[in-house]
Amino acid sequence: MDFKNIIRDVPDFPQQGIIFRDITPLLAHPQGLTKVIQSFQTGFAELNIGKVDAVIGIESRGFILGAPLAIALNCGFVPVRKPQKLPSAVFRVEYTLEYGTDTLEMHQDAIAKGQRVIIIDDVIATGGTAAATAKLVQQSGADLVGYGFLIELDFLAGRQALPAVPIVSLVNY
Ligand code: AMP
Repeated sequence: MDFKNIIRDVPDFPQQGIIFRDITPLLAHPQGLTKVIQSFQTGFAELNIGKVDAVIGIESRGFILGAPLAIALNCGFVPVRKPQKLPSAVFRVEYTLEYGTDTLEMHQDAIAKGQRVIIIDDVIATGGTAAATAKLVQQSGADLVGYGFLIELDFLAGRQALPAVPIVSLVNY
C-alpha cells in the first residue's frame, strides 16, 4: 500500500504556506490502519529495539496510531496530553513553538523507572513536540528506546532535535 497516495495534502492549512498532511483518508481506508501498524512493527523489529513495555502516544493523532500499536506489541498505552486534561499527578514539560510556548503532561505513575518505551506521533515536523515528550520520559526514569512517526518532514530536520534512539518513519516528504 502506498501511504503517500492516500494521505491528503491540504495547502495553506492551518495557515498560509503550510501543506497539512491529512491522514484521515488513510485512517478511513479499510486496510489503512492495519498496514500502518504492521509497518511500524516491521520497522521496529528491523531496528532490533527489543522488548517494549509501553507505547506513548502524543495527543491527539498519536493516540489513534499508538493505541493499536500497543495492542500489536502486547504492551501498555500511555497518553501524553495537553495541559489540564489528566486528572492525577503529572510530569509537565514546557517547550518553545515558533510563536510562544506549549505544554505537555503525562501521569507520574504511567510508566516506571527502567521500563522500555517508544513514542508515537503522526508527524514529525520541527521535532519540538517529540523532543518535549522525551523529557517527560526522562522525568519518569523510563528508558526511551525508539520513536515512530507515520510522516517525517525531512526538510525541517526534526530528528536532529531528538535524543539518539532508533526512529521509524513510514512516509517522508
Ligand atoms: P513539531 O513539534 O514541529 O515536530 O510538530 C509536530 C506536531 O505538529 C505533530 O503533532 C503534528 O500532528 C503537527 N504537524 C506539524 N506539521 C504538520 C503538517 N505539515 N501536517 C500535519 N500535521 C503537522
